[in-house]
Amino acid sequence: MGAGRELPEDYADILGVCDRLRQAQLTNAQTRWGSCTAGGVIRLYWALARAPREVAAYVSLHEAAHLLELNHSPRYWAHVTCHMPDHARWRGWLREHGPGLGRL
Ligand SMILES: [Zn+2]
Repeated sequence: MGAGRELPEDYADILGVCDRLRQAQLTNAQTRWGSCTAGGVIRLYWALARAPREVAAYVSLHEAAHLLELNHSPRYWAHVTCHMPDHARWRGWLREHGPGLGRL
C-alpha cells in the first residue's frame, strides 16, 4: 500500500501493541473494509490499495486500535482520534466512494 506509516503494523507500533498483532493480511471479503480478531489477526480489503493513502491509513488505524479495544466504545474512538483527528473525513470518503472501489 505504498510507503509511509499507514499499515496496520505501523499503527500497532504507534499504539504500542506490536506484541498483540500476530498477522496482517489482505482479503477478498467485500463485506467489510477490515477486521481484527481477538487473536490479533488483522485483515484489510485489497481494494483499499486504490483508495487515497489517508483512507487506507484510517482503516489500518481502525483495525490496529481494535488490538487495544475490541469494540467501538468511546475509549476505542479516543485512541483513533488521538492518532488521526480527521478520521471522520476518511470514513465519509469510504461511504461515498467505497462501493465502487472493488470494481475491475
Ligand atoms: Zn471497528
